[in-house]
Amino acid sequence: MRAVDLIRKKKEGEKHTREEIYFLVDGYVKGEVSDYQMSAWLMAVCFMGLDAQETAYLTQSFVDSGEILDFSTISNFVVDKHSTGGVGDKVSIVLIPLLAACGLTCAKLSGRGLGHTGGTVDKLESIPGFVCEISNEHFMKQISDIGLAISSQSPNLTPADGKIYSLRDVTATVDNISLICASVVSKKIASGANFIVLDVKYGSGAFIKTPDEAQELAELMIDIGKHLGRSICAVITSMDQPLGTHIGNSLEIIECIEFLKGNYEKDLYEITCEIAMPALLEAKICPNENEAKKLIDEKILNGEALNKFKEMLKAQGGNADVVSDYSLLPQASQKVEVRAEKDGYVCGLDALKIANAAKLLGSGRDKKEDSIDFGVGVVLSAKISQKVTKGETLATLYVNDTKRLEEAKQYALDAFVISETFCKPEKLIYKTIRRSE
Ligand code: URA
Repeated sequence: MRAVDLIRKKKEGEKHTREEIYFLVDGYVKGEVSDYQMSAWLMAVCFMGLDAQETAYLTQSFVDSGEILDFSTISNFVVDKHSTGGVGDKVSIVLIPLLAACGLTCAKLSGRGLGHTGGTVDKLESIPGFVCEISNEHFMKQISDIGLAISSQSPNLTPADGKIYSLRDVTATVDNISLICASVVSKKIASGANFIVLDVKYGSGAFIKTPDEAQELAELMIDIGKHLGRSICAVITSMDQPLGTHIGNSLEIIECIEFLKGNYEKDLYEITCEIAMPALLEAKICPNENEAKKLIDEKILNGEALNKFKEMLKAQGGNADVVSDYSLLPQASQKVEVRAEKDGYVCGLDALKIANAAKLLGSGRDKKEDSIDFGVGVVLSAKISQKVTKGETLATLYVNDTKRLEEAKQYALDAFVISETFCKPEKLIYKTIRRSE
């Protein structure tokens, strides 16, 4: 078998066998298939697609590239959560400590920034000392000791996804349903969780643009999860405007800490609750959604969720003092305000344009080997439906390198659509699909 023939085969829209998919994936992990061949194959997949059977093979090949963790001696109910990617999507960082404070065991396997979206791993690594790439032994022991851990892929856990993920990030090959499914579901299988909640996002700031496509992706992931023996629940949510107000790595950590202190934006809270509830109900910690909501509020108000976050930081080498002193986080040297050019109501706030502004400031990667600037990004002062007056600050750019500042400023300004009449934001939660449906 030769990689070049398989690239040609997919380019011509033919179907792959199981052996062919394993040949490409295993070969890439071993270095026998090159970056340029894998990139060409990924692009062919974006144009010609993979069917459900090929997607199942791809997912399984990612899982088989590493180990699968077994938590049966620690807990019989282990939760993991994943988002298909959004802008300002920091839900995992607040959800996992919150669920752990509610008594759940949480084993979260996360990724880095992908395309225009930020990644949980990059955000957490902006905390001085915090390490996401921990050994399987460390991951399991930490979960057994304190009930939660957030880890990245490692040479032992879905290494194939780890390698292919960084390549997709810089080759515009992210937005394909099968590639997203294999990447997300393989990590969830490997993390060993038996209850998985997925946040499937659609809209300008997501890889999937419409609710129908998001539903297709959600159903595909649920089916493949079932086939691989795992129970998946999917929440389909809108990503037309960024989630919360902060976009950028250490900026998002600040927003998460504020959330855990009880100071949160309504949209971030709403999605966090929608994702937390199925896990709390399925684990029988709460009998109904009302009780689940009460428990969530209680764990935020009494500080237990914040304490779990601090425990996790300490257990993974991070400086937990950041919780009370944000100056310990990476900083930007300059703040530049983007102001409204007329009076009116914010009727549109394009998440993709805001993400592009943050990326131009250095919050993401253009090439695999790029390092990112943890301190930069965008903080929004206005969101959809808010009234603004000419000259009022719409957003603040946090800047270190001014090379692409003007372009970033333009993106941020263009993201805001201001009109004379009031507009309501789109419904945030489109649908929740539970496994029994
Ligand atoms: N998150 C992932 O882990 N993979 C994707 O492909 C998209 C979002």
